[in-house]
Amino acid sequence: MNDNFIVFGQPLIGREEIDEVIDSMQKGWLGTGPKVAQFEKDFLAYKGAPYAAAVGSCTAGLFLSLKALNIGPGDEVITTAMTFVATVNSIVHTGATPVLVDIDPMSWNIDPNEIERKITKKTKAIIPVHFAGRPCDMDAIMYLARKHNLYVIEDCAHAIETEYKGKKAGTFGDFGVFSFYATKNITTGEGGMIISNDEKKIDRIKRLALHGLSRDAWKRFSDEGYQHYYAEEAGYKFNMMDLQAAIGIHQLKKIESFYSRRLHIWQLYHEALAALPVTVPAAFEPDTRHALHLYTIVLNEEAKVTRDELLVKFTKNGIGVGVHYLSILEHPFYRGKYNMQELEHAVSYGRRTISLPLSPKLTEEDVNRIITVCNHLITG
Ligand SMILES: *Cc1c(COP(=O)(O)O)cnc(C)c1O
Repeated sequence: MNDNFIVFGQPLIGREEIDEVIDSMQKGWLGTGPKVAQFEKDFLAYKGAPYAAAVGSCTAGLFLSLKALNIGPGDEVITTAMTFVATVNSIVHTGATPVLVDIDPMSWNIDPNEIERKITKKTKAIIPVHFAGRPCDMDAIMYLARKHNLYVIEDCAHAIETEYKGKKAGTFGDFGVFSFYATKNITTGEGGMIISNDEKKIDRIKRLALHGLSRDAWKRFSDEGYQHYYAEEAGYKFNMMDLQAAIGIHQLKKIESFYSRRLHIWQLYHEALAALPVTVPAAFEPDTRHALHLYTIVLNEEAKVTRDELLVKFTKNGIGVGVHYLSILEHPFYRGKYNMQELEHAVSYGRRTISLPLSPKLTEEDVNRIITVCNHLITG
C-alpha cells in the first residue's frame, strides 16, 4: 500500500494500550478476567449507568439484548432502514421479523412520525440507531414505546459520547449497546458493551454470553478456589477477552481528547465544503451532544460526478472513504422484502452518501489534502 494512503477510520493506539496488553500476556490471563471487570466498571462510570456486560461485539450485544427480552419467532422489531446490516441481522437471528422505518431527511435518523404506522399487535421492541453519533428524537420514541408497551434497545455503535437533553445515549431504554470495533470512536479491536438499569437482565446476558453458565463462571480458575459451574441454559460464546479490555481501558481515558480532535476536523470540513454541491451534516440540535462518529456528505442533484465514481476517484487520490450505508433494502438478503417507496429517504441517502475520514489520527496535512481533493473532484 502507498505510504501516503489515508486509511479510513484508523484507530489511534498509544503506548498505554500496548503496555497493558503486554501486561496481560506476561500475567498469562488472556481471556475474560479482571481487566474485563475493570473496563465494565470504567464504562459504567463514564455513562453514569448501574449495570454492564462486556461482550465480543455490538452485534452479539444486540442479539443478546433481544434474547434477554425473550423476543423470537412471531415477534416484530422496528428499526431504521439506514443502519449497518448488523442491527437488522441481530433481529433475524432471534427468529423475529425486522420492520424497517424510513429516516428523517434532515437528521438521517429514524423518523418517529413513521414509527407508529408500523406498530402491530406483534411489535415487541424498537431499536433506534443514533446515526453517525446524532441522537435520535428520544422524547418521541420513548413516548411511543410507553404508549404501546414496547421495549427499547438503543444501538449506540456510533454514540458513545452522545447526549440528548442532558441524558446519555444508551440510558433511555431497556438496553444501550455499544461497539468497540476498530473504526469506532474508541476501540478494543473487536468488542461491545451492553448497559442497563436492570441487574437481573444483565446477569442473564452475562450467562447467555458465556455458555449459559452460572454467574462469574470465569472466576472458577482464580485464587478464590475451584467452584463447579453449571449450565443453566444453552448459551453462546460471546464474552470479551482481557486482551481486548486492556486496550479499551486506555482508549476510554482518551475519549474526550479524541472527541476534541474530531470536532476540530469536523469544523474544518464544514467550512471547506460549504461551497460544493453537497449536503453536509445538519447543525447539532440544541441541548444535544453529537458523538461525531461519521462525517457523511450527500451529493446534490447538480453534482457532475456520481457517488460511485467518486469512491473510485478518492481511492485513486490516496484517500480511503466509506459508505455509511447502502440502505438495508439494497442488500440481496433483504431486497424484495420491503417497499422501496415507503423507505425512499433512506434509499436515496444510501445511494448519494460518502463518508470522509474523521479519525483523531489524521494530521492537519492529511485534512488539508482531503479538502483539496474534495474541491478538485466534486464540482457542480
Ligand atoms: C459497527 C456497527 C454495529 C456492529 O458493531 P460490531 O461491534 O462490529 O458488532 C452495529 N450497528 C451499527 C450502527 C454499527 O455501526
